[in-house]
Amino acid sequence: MRRLFEKCNDKTYDLYLKRSMVLYQKQNQPFTNNMVIYAYLSVVIHYIFVSRDKDEQVLESVMKLLGASYKEGDGQAPFWTILNREAEEYTDDLLLVNGTRLEKVVSNEDIDECFDFLEWAVGQEPDEEKRYLELGEIAVNKIQFFKDGRKRLEMRRREARGEKENDPRFIKKCQSFLQEYTPDRIKAYLDRYVIGQDAAKISISAAVYNHYQRILHPEEDLVKSNIILIGPTGCGKTELIRRIEELVNVPVVISDFSGIVATPWKGRNKEEALLNLYLKADKQLETAEHGIVFFDEFDKMIPVRNSGMGLDINQELQGQMLGMMEGTMIDVPYMNGSGNDAVIRMNTRDILFICAGAFEGLEKIVKKDLQKEGSLGFHSSLLDQSEIEVSEDNIKVKHLMEYGMKPELAGRLGAVSVLHGLDREMMKKVLTEPEDSIIARYQREFDHENIRLEFTEEAIDVIVDKVSKLSIGARGLNAVIHEILEDALFEVPGMDGVRQVTITGAAAALEEAPEYTIER
Ligand code: ADP
Repeated sequence: MRRLFEKCNDKTYDLYLKRSMVLYQKQNQPFTNNMVIYAYLSVVIHYIFVSRDKDEQVLESVMKLLGASYKEGDGQAPFWTILNREAEEYTDDLLLVNGTRLEKVVSNEDIDECFDFLEWAVGQEPDEEKRYLELGEIAVNKIQFFKDGRKRLEMRRREARGEKENDPRFIKKCQSFLQEYTPDRIKAYLDRYVIGQDAAKISISAAVYNHYQRILHPEEDLVKSNIILIGPTGCGKTELIRRIEELVNVPVVISDFSGIVATPWKGRNKEEALLNLYLKADKQLETAEHGIVFFDEFDKMIPVRNSGMGLDINQELQGQMLGMMEGTMIDVPYMNGSGNDAVIRMNTRDILFICAGAFEGLEKIVKKDLQKEGSLGFHSSLLDQSEIEVSEDNIKVKHLMEYGMKPELAGRLGAVSVLHGLDREMMKKVLTEPEDSIIARYQREFDHENIRLEFTEEAIDVIVDKVSKLSIGARGLNAVIHEILEDALFEVPGMDGVRQVTITGAAAALEEAPEYTIER
């Protein structure tokens, strides 16, 4: 414990420590770990349970306290022992009750002693209000010094479960990512592969950057902002995440939300994504707890309105999701190596959730609302619905609620981004511009045979026409192009002297074969 203290050179901390030493030495008592913890916890507990508003008394504070009171060596840490036992066994509410009870274990004398010290440490602040503030600040500072304690605690738990130790290179890897990437650089990376969708790119880039900052500076308690991406099929939502997955060095899991149900034995469950994160992180819990989860088809969890039974079930699922996103501990079922059922207790607090879906019908709700608002304005004429562009600026929590999302969940998905359906021009760009575009990928395939693959402008137009008719955005591009190239892919490798394959408009329309340029 003393070593933990010694790591810090903060001024308030120095004062605290010196004062504690003086107090105990005055009483001719040896300065033990236990005493430091005891004096320190008196401050913390007082801060958490007395001076803060009642509804701010959250589990998190208790959990921090838990980490803070982690015992080193053979010193007794009574708070730790009690809290540890209770945290394992009780619900949040009970923890709170027991935490309050704990406060009673700390006598008024202890608290007075702490106040004594604090008065001295904070310059004998006579104003009670300010003194409380300073008290809180110092208590919070203290909690941070015990971060190592929390880590050790988690390590011990992992050992008990027979898991691997966390990869010590994890933090280093995160640091090296941040040395190279700022939000604008992350966006620039996405620009190389995804056409348009600037608002979503900006929102994702900022969230990923913030995600790393949170990993490296847990003491700053930066706010996590989960993201919701709203846009039609095939406009690049998943593509953006696939590119993020390529770029980052934390685990990323892409999971389809359709088919996920509230009662796990009746279908897939939401914990599956967390398990995948854990496996992707090579069973390193801390790494998994700092991963990114992308839930595609997230709108599938919204109840079909007025559908009786379905409503309740989905409300329950939404409630469960809320818990996950709010950062509760989630028990993830896991079949371990010996074929036995096991449970991994995962903290979701630092997992970044990105949810995406088409949210069909949401646009109508927003437009109707904006039209109503517009018509109330003094000079405004009735806005034509088709003139209104739905964007992240005008989608509000109330619209998501009207759509069927629980208010708490809608509020939790802080950053909303709207992605637009691809028009013809964008679709053309998707085909030709991105590094690694679909055409570039087929060109590479022909390259292996030393053959150039060319598409005429007319061919591109025909392809875009065909795909537009399918109404599945750019998702149809690959299938359409594959159909056009299928025969050539089959026969060209066996032919002699083919130097170039040209896809003309007629070839793209499947009316003629592609043109082969042959050199002998
Ligand atoms: P969704 O929005 O339904 O998640 P995807 O991101 O999976 O759609 O897009 C399907 C395919 O279409 C991707 O593999 C990608 O090749 C292409 N695509 C879609 N939108 C874009 C875009 N804006 N820029 C580049 N490629 C895109």
